[in-house]
Amino acid sequence: MDELESYFAGYGDLPREIILKHDLLRVGHWFTDAALELASQALVKSYRLFSYDLMPMKDMKRKEHRKTPEWFTIRRGMYGLRPVSIQTTLDSSSPYVIDVVDSQPKLFLNSQEICEVYFPKPMKYYTRKFPDGTAYHEIIAFGYFVTVFRNCQYWGPDEECRFCDININARQMKESKDFTFNAPVKPVEYMVEVARSIEQDATEEVGFTPPIDFLITGGTILKTLHGKNELAFYSEYVSALKWGGRRRFINLQTNGQDKETMKRYRAAGVDCHHSNMEVWDKRLFEWINPGKNRRVGWDGWVKSMIDEVDVFGEGNVRPNFVGGVEMAKPYGFETIDEAVKSTSDGVDFMMRNGIIPRFNQWRREPGSNLGSQHQQPAIPLEYYLQLMGNYYNSWKKYNLPMPRRECVHPERRIGSGHGTYDDILLLNELPDYEEAWDQGFNEGLKGCVTRQ
Ligand code: SF4
Repeated sequence: MDELESYFAGYGDLPREIILKHDLLRVGHWFTDAALELASQALVKSYRLFSYDLMPMKDMKRKEHRKTPEWFTIRRGMYGLRPVSIQTTLDSSSPYVIDVVDSQPKLFLNSQEICEVYFPKPMKYYTRKFPDGTAYHEIIAFGYFVTVFRNCQYWGPDEECRFCDININARQMKESKDFTFNAPVKPVEYMVEVARSIEQDATEEVGFTPPIDFLITGGTILKTLHGKNELAFYSEYVSALKWGGRRRFINLQTNGQDKETMKRYRAAGVDCHHSNMEVWDKRLFEWINPGKNRRVGWDGWVKSMIDEVDVFGEGNVRPNFVGGVEMAKPYGFETIDEAVKSTSDGVDFMMRNGIIPRFNQWRREPGSNLGSQHQQPAIPLEYYLQLMGNYYNSWKKYNLPMPRRECVHPERRIGSGHGTYDDILLLNELPDYEEAWDQGFNEGLKGCVTRQ
């Protein structure tokens, strides 16, 4: 507690929610039996792409992987926290524990109560299944996220991004026998049907009328998959989702591409592109992303992100970075100052060019190359706090648009559970932040969507 409060005092210009959230993502959290019982009624964690856990699934003796929520919200408590969502990041040795007091889940740090916790309600389509037993929510998670290819053709230590556990995660899900869909490629017709179901529920029951956002992602396709190259493979899903209903906004994650390829993705229906660079420093890009470096290279990647702004527009180029991986052992930066300077320079460069990067916090997954080959201590909290302060300053300096939040799940419409890159903008800039949260966000966020 003293340590946490010293950060509150030392970083008084940052919202306290940002500080606590980074710590919860940094060292994970755990659930008591009572909390697990309550959480098992919530919107279940999807293991949608990576595991985002600090421990392997085989060590979850109470089947936590099927009982914990996709995210949870922290609020109120001794610091009067405003609500922010935290992506569930399991670690049985974490000092943060969620327990239940008088039927209310609460967050504890070393047995000291910090705040209230809320679990997200499952959406109606989570109860539906295809005739073969496949659960709808294993095709599209929380009304938004669809991993159409669950493996990556960057394979092994010479190709795979070193922080990534996509292939290990798919394997541990299959071995657990607790998931209904384990094939590497999702059928297009399943995705179309689940999207229809989500749209129907959103319209009829939630009264959600803005364009519904979806995100399509998956591993790299180096040559072909099911007879198609990467462009043809992903474009089929993009077009089926984009034109399969009314007013949809399609996000796509792929490698950096040349401008002509991006135009073809745009024509297929992509509205926002995420060419996830993962780490800014050139030397570390080459070490951490060996496959991406060989195929595209640092210079090619940066050029592709800049070109994407011409194709998709300002605010619709949102590459992901794995926040903190630039301090990974053994070749990462050794000091916080070096890491913060390098990545903040990258953020400023990108924002100057209309690119708004995302920082999905590194979870040090044990099945990844980095997690399995080297001891990886938690990244210092100062790194995240300084980086996010600089991120906010650059965003202000270049007068960039507010983040777009049009997920059909109300608790996803503010911020993203896996990082604070949107939280810091919304917490600082949205005057009625808490009211917007309580109103289900439809009205409160009208002024918050990306300019279009
Ligand atoms: S491109 Fe890298 S981060 Fe993406 S799935 Fe493949 S190995 Fe993982």
